[in-house]
Amino acid sequence: MERTLVMIKPDGVQRNLIGKIINIFEEKGLKVIALKKVRLSKEQAKAFYIVHKDRPFYEELTDYMSSGPVVAMVLEGEDAIKRVREIMGATDPAEAAEGTIRKLFGLDKGRNTVHGSDSPESASKEIPFFFSEFELIGAE
Ligand code: UDP
Ligand code: MG
Repeated sequence: MERTLVMIKPDGVQRNLIGKIINIFEEKGLKVIALKKVRLSKEQAKAFYIVHKDRPFYEELTDYMSSGPVVAMVLEGEDAIKRVREIMGATDPAEAAEGTIRKLFGLDKGRNTVHGSDSPESASKEIPFFFSEFELIGAE
């Protein structure tokens, strides 16, 4: 069993896609073990995406991620990190495979509707960014 951090980005929340996106993950057998809606400050968005601090898109990305509410969740399942990345699709919706969330809903490379941890190392930093151990309610 593996855990991964997923965020529905501001474009997804704004277009009322929260339910549809969670449904896609649930239908693939992933369990929602924590969930919250939050609005990130610019500083919080910069901290979350600190690995990208030297990339040319860092300012734009963190402006965008603090522009409206997001929904953060922890999904649990076998091979959850890789499976979530597959279900989301490529970063650029124009390059994402048919049926992926980014192909279905993504607007452009920045406003690509969802985030998912890219490795166990990332997940182990990103999950505690949003949730305490007390808030992670695994399958019983
Ligand atoms: N991003 C962007 N322009 C780029 C590359 C990335 O705006 O040229 C944004 C996009 O929202 C992406 C996020 O920065 O989801 C993080 O980039 P990364 O390469 O980690 O993509 P991801 O892991 O989200 O597929
Ligand atoms: Mg990434």
